[in-house]
Amino acid sequence: MSNVPVAVVTGSNKGIGLAIVRALCKQFPGDVYLTSRDPGRGQAAVAQLQQEGLKPLFHQLDIDDPQSIRALRDFLKEKYGGLNVLVNNAGIAFKVHDTAPFAVQAEVTLKTNFFGTRNVCTELLPLMKPYGRVVNVSSMVSSSALRGCSQELQQKFRSDTITEEELVQLMTKFVEDTKKNIHEKEGWPNTAYGVSKIGVTVLSRIQARLLNEQRKGDHILLNACCPGWVRTDMAGPKATKSPEEGAETPVYLALLPSSADAPHGQFVSDKTVRPW
Ligand code: NAP
Repeated sequence: MSNVPVAVVTGSNKGIGLAIVRALCKQFPGDVYLTSRDPGRGQAAVAQLQQEGLKPLFHQLDIDDPQSIRALRDFLKEKYGGLNVLVNNAGIAFKVHDTAPFAVQAEVTLKTNFFGTRNVCTELLPLMKPYGRVVNVSSMVSSSALRGCSQELQQKFRSDTITEEELVQLMTKFVEDTKKNIHEKEGWPNTAYGVSKIGVTVLSRIQARLLNEQRKGDHILLNACCPGWVRTDMAGPKATKSPEEGAETPVYLALLPSSADAPHGQFVSDKTVRPW
């Protein structure tokens, strides 16, 4: 078993994830795994970074596929005995003009952004080594979507005692409410992406709390963040930040020094803790 520190970035064959891998290859003292649901796209991205003189490693990972997540978990357990840095970056967004019915957009978006991310956490968080760093890439849109929720929902999502099961129930209810076209009546905002990212931010707050309760002595720091508005296939060419600039906050959180005890359980953008 290797004692080399290891970092994994989900959805990193392009966009912000690729920029995070590039930065970690330069700054993280260990093995850095570029992961992709499609091995061809993943290997092409690895080759691109190799041409830049960097040495990322590759592992397949489709966060929608529990078997793929378990295969990565078993690989990390066997080869490294755990994991030092996990960046949950993989995500999707329908384009504004997409004509797919809202209920379909809700189901598909939540499936990857919330349920997929949660499934990765369920399998990989138990592997985190002491002083591990976990970064869940959310979005500022989670804050604006939160403000668009009913007072009752806002209270639940800001609660310091909400459980993961309760959060899963709420995310499931959103999808069901869109199918019945009652989501607005039920207090939800009209954004599937926004609700999925509320899920990611609240999940991060819950996971950080659980780490405090169950593994305080391991000094693991876990945060949600917004990369900013970044020029990628998701956000388009008009966005203000380059992928490298978008990677700055996730990389900062992934490389928090072992002497740091904060931020933890926070929502961070531009390397600054934001109110939730
Ligand atoms: P992107 O260029 O579209 O890249 C998204 C990445 O996620 C791709 O590598 C994609 O793989 C991967 N992915 C999607 N579904 C996946 C799955 N089921 N399993 C594994 N990988 C999957 O988008 P981006 O702008 O870099 O976004 C990265 C993250 O930042 C996302 O979580 C996004 O919500 C968040 N974010 C972005 C912005 C922005 O302005 N760009 C702002 C706030 C937050 P494929 O190539 O196979 O599709």
